Amino acid sequence: MDFASLGLSENIVKAVNEAGYTDPTSVQQAAIPAALAGKDLVVSSQTGSGKTAAFMLPSLERLTTEPTIKARGPRVLVLTPTRELAVQVTEATKRYGKNLRYAKAVSVVGGMPYPVQNKLLSSPYEILVATPGRLMDQMNSGRIDFARLEILILDEADRMLDMGFVDDIEAICAKLPASRQTLFFSATLDGQVARMMQRLLKDPERIEI
Ligand code: AMP
Repeated sequence: MDFASLGLSENIVKAVNEAGYTDPTSVQQAAIPAALAGKDLVVSSQTGSGKTAAFMLPSLERLTTEPTIKARGPRVLVLTPTRELAVQVTEATKRYGKNLRYAKAVSVVGGMPYPVQNKLLSSPYEILVATPGRLMDQMNSGRIDFARLEILILDEADRMLDMGFVDDIEAICAKLPASRQTLFFSATLDGQVARMMQRLLKDPERIEI
């Protein structure tokens, strides 16, 4: 099996191949077609399974279509527990999206000077990769319009909850369009994680690798 047979466009497949990957991992084989079909997903997979491409490639595919709502602000939002992970996801996104016209990724993380971040947020972009605390600050200062948001991704959701981000995540999700697609990635799916899944997801498909 190759990436094209999962339903991805040539421009995306080419970029992935150039990044050195020709064979999709198991999580990518399961998640990419389901995400392309517009389903909410719960994916339990570990770091190292190729989960970043599993959520980012179908999100990039969405960006090859016109947005239905004309607005500024992100069409895809990725929440990550740490700044380091946000930077990794942003770098991977830039690699996989390099042949697309409208797939600019910016990150909003703690520790980045506000003037730099404010400048990033004031130019056009489609993908926002953020840690919950700093995203809350930026949201509360009115710098982010979520009107055209289509896809929300929670990466390492269990770690975000362990770090105490539950209220921030709830507050952020409350500002997003209800019609969005949600892709939920977590190593564990019990306790507090299960409760959050119930609140955020609509009839999700479960993928356990
Ligand atoms: P992740 O689970 O997203 O942190 O990815 C783990 C590592 O696997 C990263 O170094 C990726 O670049 C790499 N990777 C992702 N997809 C593939 C693939 N289809 N084939 C080989 N390596 C991959």
